[in-house]
Amino acid sequence: MEMSSNFVKSIMEEDLASGKVKEIVTRFPPEPNAYLHIGHARAIITNFELAGMFGGKTNLRFDDTNPVKEDAMFVEAIKGDIAWLGYKPANVFFGSDYFEETYRRAVLMIKKGLAYVCDLSADDVSGYRGTLTEAGKASPNRDRSVEENLRLFEEMREGRIADGQKTLRAKIDMAAPNINMRDPVMYRILHVHHHNTKDKWCIYPMYDFAHPLQDAIEGVSHSLCSLEYVDHRPLYDWFVEKAEMEHVPHQYEFGRLNITNTIMSKRYLKQLVEAKVVRGYDDPRMPTLVGLRRRGYTPEAIRNFVLGTGLSRINSTVSSEMLENCLRDDLKMKAARTHAVLNPLKLTIENYPEGMTETFEIPNNGDNPELGTRTVSFSKHIWIEKEDFAETAPDKGWKRLSVGLEVRLMQAYFVKCVGVVKNDKGEIVEVRCTYDPETRSGSGFNLRKPNGNIHWVDAATALPATFNLLEPLMVDSDPDRSIFDRLNPHSWNEAKGYVEANLKHVSIETKFQFVRLGYFSVDYDSQEGNLVFNRTVELKSSFK
Ligand code: ATP
Ligand code: MG
Repeated sequence: MEMSSNFVKSIMEEDLASGKVKEIVTRFPPEPNAYLHIGHARAIITNFELAGMFGGKTNLRFDDTNPVKEDAMFVEAIKGDIAWLGYKPANVFFGSDYFEETYRRAVLMIKKGLAYVCDLSADDVSGYRGTLTEAGKASPNRDRSVEENLRLFEEMREGRIADGQKTLRAKIDMAAPNINMRDPVMYRILHVHHHNTKDKWCIYPMYDFAHPLQDAIEGVSHSLCSLEYVDHRPLYDWFVEKAEMEHVPHQYEFGRLNITNTIMSKRYLKQLVEAKVVRGYDDPRMPTLVGLRRRGYTPEAIRNFVLGTGLSRINSTVSSEMLENCLRDDLKMKAARTHAVLNPLKLTIENYPEGMTETFEIPNNGDNPELGTRTVSFSKHIWIEKEDFAETAPDKGWKRLSVGLEVRLMQAYFVKCVGVVKNDKGEIVEVRCTYDPETRSGSGFNLRKPNGNIHWVDAATALPATFNLLEPLMVDSDPDRSIFDRLNPHSWNEAKGYVEANLKHVSIETKFQFVRLGYFSVDYDSQEGNLVFNRTVELKSSFK
């Protein structure tokens, strides 16, 4: 799938045609403070695809100007996510690479009378800022001399002033209708260790000051961000101009992507992990890229999903169904189809000789001969799904096994149920059948119509397996309710059953379609002898 036409693409075309830009340069600028989620995939895919279309390039730039929340571990995780999605950044940069230059530009702005050191506390800075209807109030330090500002800023840098005691602010307009323009803070004091620059700095630039400078330094032509930054654009342009950046980047905003019943905020995802509601960032129920990957999503499915949602200037909420469909479309031809039984019930074929085994050669994917065939064993004892049996057919529409009825064991034989074995509690523990040797698969057995087709595995060779059957983490998409009130208490269900012997050596992340049950992916906890599969999606939409 290609990226369809959208407003950013049109702007890029015009800018290239008019000569306004020579090359398309974009960047993906995550903060290394969390794992990426599928919302970030929109930003990644948009930046890389657009630049790629025009033969341009995309940088990965870690926006690491807020050392309090950052961690090198996230840097590696984010690099891994981008590579997994199939993209290779032209460069990997860090906002902290530019601390020296950012500092010099701040000094330049002080010298130009466009920045001042302010003594107000963080609370007072926001208190003085005014409201949409009321102008802000000037800081008492707004008219400090250039010399004093230079001296104080130097003291800030040298670590002679405690956290929170002073800030460097841009001198713009305390009555500006756009509150972002009311003397925003450019630098704050933070005596904290930085994952990259260690203890070199104790002043850190704010996003609004650092970001446009970083874009300018890297020669970014189109700086794409999500819609909440629209009101920051005038400030972005102001800083690029007043800091006298040689290259002039431009910011464009696109709508954020949201998915129904899915939390798309780092902060909340972190809360879920910290409260141990989930098993970590890569819990297969999480909308993080590592979670989706573990669950069995493919990069192609995610890419097609994001491209399919288009790109516009409004935030959009897309049904999780659409994501699931993209996975089904991607795996339909790619995944081998095999048999697994999630909730096993023993079926014994009375007229099949004990100890005899035969094999069937079964296509791995009926729609894709390229996937070849596999050999599946068959014997007197078979596992079937509990759900596929009822002692008496519940209604006329029953297309499975019951006493007196005959079904086809898919790709094997017809079996007819002749009775059941029950335990002391009256529960059925075994189904007794007879089989008709004439109905062997591929032997022209269409003499009569069975009462349905059910899947099975040979009990003599089956491998025990655990199946994680995952439901949405959230019961609704209501943003006004606490996430902890919205948790689905039944989001994780485990079934213990069997898979075909062929799956003995599967490696993690291998995808299968378990016939009639869904697409599954081998979980990271899976081991030979203790296979674990995550159900990625069911075969059909369960949308109600
Ligand atoms: P969150 O809102 O989840 O905390 P963030 O915006 O703070 O995410 P960043 O690391 O700043 O996370 O994000 C990097 C880029 O990804 C930004 O350009 C941001 O606009 C974009 N992005 C984040 N979430 C989404 C989303 N749901 N849809 C589209 N783009 C997104
Ligand atoms: Mg952000």
